[in-house]
Amino acid sequence: MAFATLLILTGTLGVPAHAAPAPAAGPAVEESVSRQVRAKLRLEKTHPVKVSVRRGDSDSGAFGTAVVPGGTELPQGWLFLYSDGRTALEGDPDFAKLATKVPSLSDDEKRVFTSRSAPDYRTGMRLPFALGQSWYLTGGPHTMAGGPRSSIDLAGGDGRVLAARGGLAYTMCNSGKGWLRVVHDNGFSTDYYHLEGNIAADGKALAEGDFLGNIGNDVSCGGRSSGKHVHFALRRDGAYTPIDHYAFGKWVIRASGSDYDGYALHGSTRRDAGQTIQNHGVLGPRQGIVDTDGGTALNRRSGPGTSNPVAGTVADGETVDIVCSAPGTEHAGRDGYRSSMWDKLADGTWVSDVYLWTGTGEPVAGYC
Ligand SMILES: [Zn+2]
Repeated sequence: MAFATLLILTGTLGVPAHAAPAPAAGPAVEESVSRQVRAKLRLEKTHPVKVSVRRGDSDSGAFGTAVVPGGTELPQGWLFLYSDGRTALEGDPDFAKLATKVPSLSDDEKRVFTSRSAPDYRTGMRLPFALGQSWYLTGGPHTMAGGPRSSIDLAGGDGRVLAARGGLAYTMCNSGKGWLRVVHDNGFSTDYYHLEGNIAADGKALAEGDFLGNIGNDVSCGGRSSGKHVHFALRRDGAYTPIDHYAFGKWVIRASGSDYDGYALHGSTRRDAGQTIQNHGVLGPRQGIVDTDGGTALNRRSGPGTSNPVAGTVADGETVDIVCSAPGTEHAGRDGYRSSMWDKLADGTWVSDVYLWTGTGEPVAGYC
């Protein structure tokens, strides 16, 4: 319809019939983006790259997705920005710069595309399904497409895959099927692959827990799937990052052995790949999960150190709110993590920081 209107308008304005047609906008963008992707992955010149220009053109600047289909392997893909003959993919140094130059981006996109992650393991994310449900960790940490072990596989419950955190959603495959990426406001993005019945999205703003699609066997962009599941991958500052040590739904994901091995920890409760994990929701940035590395209850003290009287206990796996931190007696926790930092809890009692998983060894709420 818009095209027809445009024809009538140009007729009315009397554009000379012999005017040379403007160079087609698409090919210039596609050529530049394809070249950039091939250079990044060191692929040969003829390797297929599927470029989908979602908005704009080579004159005004463009935005879209670029995917290297995976065949039997999983695909790789990026959001791209193009302006004045230059292409930047997510994770490229110029990506944030070009985000300010492409006019078809929304203010929200400019904001999230320029956000950077903090140097710790806090994600602010739940597991990507309903709170309280228990799903199978059908695959522990494994690679997305030859990169780091950025991903886990999940299946079970009602099969409804939900956003792990709020953000802006994009379909990645040209078909619009199977693969969604949600770009968050904290430097992280999450990928959801093999979905069936997924939402259509080009920058759609989502809240934590919004519906993305159902677990499935979709391989629109490549890969293999035997048995409905979601392949859930973590990206940090525009690139896949090892998911080891990051927490979702208050489960700390741990890699071990080969691809698809590994386990998840909720406090001292361990669930191996093949077992179920319950979604306990987001761990707040000033919260900790009690992890005594054995499951015993943790003594709360009236001050920061074991010389202070015991003022109660808190169970392994419980979530605590941290008010501030201070130096105290030194202790050793899981993996030999040693620290003399103690955390003051919301009820005024204190616990050693080595028995709390917060995602960082730094004070999460500042020093007292
Ligand atoms: Zn997977």
